Amino acid sequence: MALKLSEKPRVLIVGGGYVGLTVAQQLQKKVKAAGGVVTLVDPLPYMTYQPFLPEVVGGHIEARHAVVPHRKHLKDTEIITGKVTSVDHEAKVAAIGLDDGESVEVPYQDIVMAAGATTRVFPIEGLAENGIGLKTIEEAVGLRNHILERLETASVMTDEAAKKRALNFTVVGGGFAGIECIAEMEDIIRAAVDQNPRLAQSDVRIVLVEAMGRIMPEVSEEQAEGVVEHLRGRGVEVLLNTSLGSAVDGELTLISMKDKSEVDKFAADTLVWTAGVAANAVARSSSFPVDERGRITGSATLQILNENGEVIEGAWTAGDIAAIPDLTGAGPGGFCVPNAQHASRQAKVLAKNLFSVRFASGEISEYKHESLGAVAGLGLYKGVGNPMGVKLKGVLAWAAHRGYHGMAIPTVERKLRVAGGWVNEMIFGRDVTPLRDLEDPTKAFVEAAGGKKKTASK
Ligand SMILES: Cc1cc2nc3c(=O)[nH]c(=O)nc-3n(C[C@H](O)[C@H](O)[C@H](O)COP(=O)(O)OP(=O)(O)OC[C@H]3O[C@@H](n4cnc5c(N)ncnc54)[C@H](O)[C@@H]3O)c2cc1C
Repeated sequence: MALKLSEKPRVLIVGGGYVGLTVAQQLQKKVKAAGGVVTLVDPLPYMTYQPFLPEVVGGHIEARHAVVPHRKHLKDTEIITGKVTSVDHEAKVAAIGLDDGESVEVPYQDIVMAAGATTRVFPIEGLAENGIGLKTIEEAVGLRNHILERLETASVMTDEAAKKRALNFTVVGGGFAGIECIAEMEDIIRAAVDQNPRLAQSDVRIVLVEAMGRIMPEVSEEQAEGVVEHLRGRGVEVLLNTSLGSAVDGELTLISMKDKSEVDKFAADTLVWTAGVAANAVARSSSFPVDERGRITGSATLQILNENGEVIEGAWTAGDIAAIPDLTGAGPGGFCVPNAQHASRQAKVLAKNLFSVRFASGEISEYKHESLGAVAGLGLYKGVGNPMGVKLKGVLAWAAHRGYHGMAIPTVERKLRVAGGWVNEMIFGRDVTPLRDLEDPTKAFVEAAGGKKKTASK
């Protein structure tokens, strides 16, 4: 039986993250009233509020509250849970792989390419088998549980080498995500160790590896140095000009970026990789031109451009998948950096322009946005940032971080759920309980039934 789809002229949105959710919110009613339909395709049934992933690792935010469900908040949008595998813009058709293994071809009038970015990974031996990223809610939940589980298990280990390995925690990548992640990890590790009389803080080793000579390019050098000092003060080993050479069987080899000599070698059960992002590969599976970094080339009006720099009719893009000119001149190489600040604002301009071109006067505007600065949370009551150019650190920066993101997460319902969780934590304290067997939830039942797990039939 064929997938039931609307026959109305379609605005097809590829990706329901920052850009996709916002464009759908802005357009769904207007397009419906104009006789069309907005269709959103995403393999996930929700938008992930990625700036909250470190707080999910830290346990300040309940995982479900850091995502915004599409169906609840996009009532006038046709939703397809699936993955766009190719786009033929000449035929105006997108191929979508569905969860049940089937695929469907969906025709459209306008397309919005908004599939964001994926973790940028280098071919380092053992990394894929032993590492974890921090780009999805599942990774944040898995990482939190893994850390807490390793601590609990280490506390009953009698094999010293295995215990040491369990208590070695390494993050590669000193950008915003990596720094927020290691700071939250340090916080939660210390709190869990404090609760466990069989562990001492000195048993734990927490290492940050950064290939450049500095961390956090989004803040000033002075602030970045302050963060390095702050983390070192908390017992985190910050290794600059250093990279991961190999991670085979969880044996990490760190090498100097200066002379490629070995800096350190140790075994670790926890390896987090946050060394940047790359435009989603679906860009290359489309008929649109991409730049040398695999990004779809867009104009300041958020329209996709052909090889000659001309606007392609009915084709739009924004966010991390796109190379959009930064008209303020501040962006590296003249393009907007891949962040939520740009993604959510570009989405609003895109929605307005698309509607105007397809259904109204045709008048469009260019996207231009002066950065509001950046602010990072570094664990409970700790932070750093330069919102609106004002240098902040400590509790003020932390409050600014929470204030900004608490307001920025889409929908009032999610804002209140997140804020409610923060209040609960203030009242009841930090929760460091690991959930066991998340990857094998039928284990208890199989044991109780005395049976063997059925292997999935193909
Ligand atoms: C840990 C972390 C912390 C961050 N903190 C900040 C911060 O503090 N401030 C800030 O400004 N930015 C921050 N960012 C960056 C910000 O989250 C991104 O720039 C933003 O999400 C980009 O929005 P987007 O819509 O382009 O992509 P996304 O929000 O990533 O959405 C892309 C969507 O496309 C879907 N998709 C993927 N492939 C397909 C496909 N083939 N077909 C259909 N759908 C597909 C995905 O499932 C996803 O839902 C952070 C990022 C991370 C990872």
